[in-house]
Amino acid sequence: MEQDILPVEPPGCSSDDSSSIQEFIVKAKAALISVGIVRDTVLCNGKEGNKLSGRIVDSDMHDVGRFLNRLLGLPPNIQNRLFELFIKILELMVHNARSEGQFDSGIVDIKANIIELQGSPKTVHVDNLSGASTVLFTFTLDRGLTWEFAKDAFDERQKDGLGSASDGFYESRREWMGRRHYMLALEDISSGMYKIFRPAVGEALREMPLSELKSKYRKISSIEKANEGWKEEYELSAQQCMHGPKCKLGIYCTVGRRLQEVNVLGGLILPVWGTIEKALSKQARQSHKRIRIVRLEATNDNQRIVGLLIPSAAVESVLQDLSWDQAVDER
Ligand SMILES: [Zn+2]
Repeated sequence: MEQDILPVEPPGCSSDDSSSIQEFIVKAKAALISVGIVRDTVLCNGKEGNKLSGRIVDSDMHDVGRFLNRLLGLPPNIQNRLFELFIKILELMVHNARSEGQFDSGIVDIKANIIELQGSPKTVHVDNLSGASTVLFTFTLDRGLTWEFAKDAFDERQKDGLGSASDGFYESRREWMGRRHYMLALEDISSGMYKIFRPAVGEALREMPLSELKSKYRKISSIEKANEGWKEEYELSAQQCMHGPKCKLGIYCTVGRRLQEVNVLGGLILPVWGTIEKALSKQARQSHKRIRIVRLEATNDNQRIVGLLIPSAAVESVLQDLSWDQAVDER
C-alpha cells in the first residue's frame, strides 16, 4: 500500500474513478494505523497535499494471523472492505503461482492418458451419526502412449516443417535388465530443449537438453525398428516395472510401469481419518506413511473424485482397521 498502487481494484471502487480509489487508500491507511499494523507514521508534504506514510514492521510482514486479528478491531464497513481486498489479492497471487506451476495447495493431481474406475465403488464405513458413507474407489491408470499416437505426433511435426534435425525416435545406449528403452524426442521451440515421450509412462515432466539426449540415447534411423521397439516396450511395461520380474518390491513397484492401480478413499473422511493415519503409519515404505489428498478425473465418464490416496500395499490393512472400527461401533 506504500506505493499507492494496488494489483486489484479495491472493493466498492471503480477503475474509471481514481478519486474513489484514492479515497479508499486514505481511509484504509488510517484504519491500519489505528490498529497498529502501520506504524511510525509521519506526515509528508507532497505535491498533491499532505500524505501519511508509515511502515509495517518486519515481524508483522508475514504474520497473516495477526493481520486478520487486528482487522477485527476495525469498524465493520472498512473492516469488510479491507478483508475483501485481502482476499482479492490472495486469489490473484494463487492464480499467478498456479499458472507458473509454483502453487502447492497440498492436493496432488493424478494425471494419465486413461483413468477408469474398476467395478463399482465399495462402501467401507458408514457414520452412525450422519448416515454418510466412506467409499473406496479403485481406478486403473494407463500412462502409456501407443505407437500410433507417437508416430502421428512425429509426422505432424515433420509436416509443419517446424521440426529440428534431432527430432525423432531414440533408443537408450545402455541396456536395463537386458533391454533398451525407446522414446520420441521433439524439440520445444520456446526452450530449445527436448520434450520426451515414452511408451510406458507418456510425456516426461522434465525436458532434456540436446547434449544429454545425444550422450544417453542413439537416434534410430529405421522407422520399422522404432515401431518394433516401441510396441515391445509398450506391451512389456503393461504389468511390469522397469526393474524387471526380479524387482525387490514385486507387484507394488510402479517405476516405469504403464498400468497402475490407484485406490482413493472418498465420501465422508473425517470420522475415519485417525484410523487411516494409524494404518498408514504401520507401512514399511516412508512414502506410504504420509496421508496425501489427491484429485483425479475418470477419462471415460469425467467423474471427478477428491479423496485420500491409499497406497496399494496398504489397502488391505486400512480396510481391516475400518471394518474393526465399524464392528466396535455397532456393539
Ligand atoms: Zn521395480
